[in-house]
Amino acid sequence: MTKSFADDNRLHEATARIRRFLDHDRPDTPCLVIDLPTVRDRFTAIREALPRVAVFYAVKANPAPEVVELLAAEGSCFDVASPAEIDLCLARGAAPGAISYSNPIKKARDIAYAFGRGVRLFVSDSEQDVRAVAEHAPGSSVLLRIVVESRGSTYPFGKKFGCAPEMAADLLRLAAELGLAPLGVAFHAGSQQLDPTGWDGAIADAAEVVLKLRAEGLPVTTLNLGGGLPAAYLERPPAPAEYGAAITAAIERHFGDFTPRVMIEPGRAVVAESGLIRSEVVLVAKKSYTDEQRWVFLDVGRYGGLAETEGEAIAYPLETSRDGGPTGPVVIAGPTCDADDVLYQHTVYELPLDLRAGDFVDLLRAGAYTASYSSVAFNGFPPLATHCVR
Ligand SMILES: *Cc1c(COP(=O)(O)O)cnc(C)c1O
Repeated sequence: MTKSFADDNRLHEATARIRRFLDHDRPDTPCLVIDLPTVRDRFTAIREALPRVAVFYAVKANPAPEVVELLAAEGSCFDVASPAEIDLCLARGAAPGAISYSNPIKKARDIAYAFGRGVRLFVSDSEQDVRAVAEHAPGSSVLLRIVVESRGSTYPFGKKFGCAPEMAADLLRLAAELGLAPLGVAFHAGSQQLDPTGWDGAIADAAEVVLKLRAEGLPVTTLNLGGGLPAAYLERPPAPAEYGAAITAAIERHFGDFTPRVMIEPGRAVVAESGLIRSEVVLVAKKSYTDEQRWVFLDVGRYGGLAETEGEAIAYPLETSRDGGPTGPVVIAGPTCDADDVLYQHTVYELPLDLRAGDFVDLLRAGAYTASYSSVAFNGFPPLATHCVR
C-alpha cells in the first residue's frame, strides 16, 4: 500500500524530530530543518506509485547536499539545470549516467562542461540548442520538450519552455541527422499539479510524436513526464497511488501496443513535506485603533525563502510557540523594507492573541523551493540556512 501524501503520524514524528533538534541546538532563526527520513519516505512512495518509471529528482527543489546524497544512495537519478548542480550530484554519489541535463536553456560551454563530466542525456526545445548539444556533447541522447496546456496546476510553466509537437518531431529528426540519439519527448504539466489526470493531454501529444517517428524508423523510446507531483500544504492533494494509476492509464491509452520507457522528475513531492522553517516574530502591530486584524512580522519573508507565497499560491501550515489559547485574524509579512514582502493578506490565518516579539512561528511542509529561492542578502538579511536531521 502506498502511503498518502499527508500521513499524519509520520509527519508528526518528523516534526517532533525537528523540534528536538531545534530545542537542543538552538540554531539562529530563520532556518530550514529537513527531516531526512521523510525525504526517503516520500521518494519511496513515488517509486511505489510508479514502479516501472525512472525517478529523476529535480535538484532545484532542495539542493542540500545531505538530500542529494540520501537520494543517490536510494537509487534516484537527478534532473539538473547547471554545472553547479552537476558537480553537486557527482560529489554526493550520483553516477554521470544518472543525470539528465533537463534545462533547455543552456550555454554551449555549460553543455561542454556537462559532457566532460560524463553527462550524456540532454533535454532541448530549440534548433540552436539541438545543434549546440550535437557539437559539444557529440553522440549524446536528447529529449525534445513540448509545450503543454496546463490545467490544475498551482504553478503552470507557461510558454517559456517547450516547442510545438511538430517542431519537436522535426528536431528529433535533426538530432538523428547530427549524430545524436533521438531518445524521446519531455514536458512539464505544471508544478503542484492537483489533478491526477493533469498529465493526460501532454501524454497524448507526446505519444503522437513518438509513434509517428517510430513509424518512420527512428528509434524513439522515451517519455519524460517532468515534475508536478504535489505536496500537502493547507490543501491536501490526492495520494501518490492515484497519480500513479491515472498516469499509467494515460500512457496505456495513448501509446497503445508500444510500451515507452518512462522517466519522471519530481522535485516538490520529494522534499516539501520533510521541511520546517523556524522563524521568530519580529513585531506584532495594528494599523489603527479600530482594526481587528494584527500584522505579524516574521524574520523570514519573500526574499528569505518564501518566494512561493507570491500570489499566496502556497499556503504553509503554521504552528507557534503560543498555540492553545484564543486566536484572531492576522496579516503575515516578512522583515524587509519591500512592499511586496507580505506573505498572506487574503488567505485566512488566525494566530494566538498573545503572540509577541521573540515567539516562534514554524512553517510546516516548507522543504521545497524555499532555501533554494532565498536571496543572498537583500536588505542585509542572510540567505536561509539549512540543517538536516536523521
Ligand atoms: C522544476 C522542474 C521539475 C520539478 O518540478 P516539481 O513541480 O517540483 O516536481 C521537473 N522537471 C523540470 C524540467 C523542472 O524544471
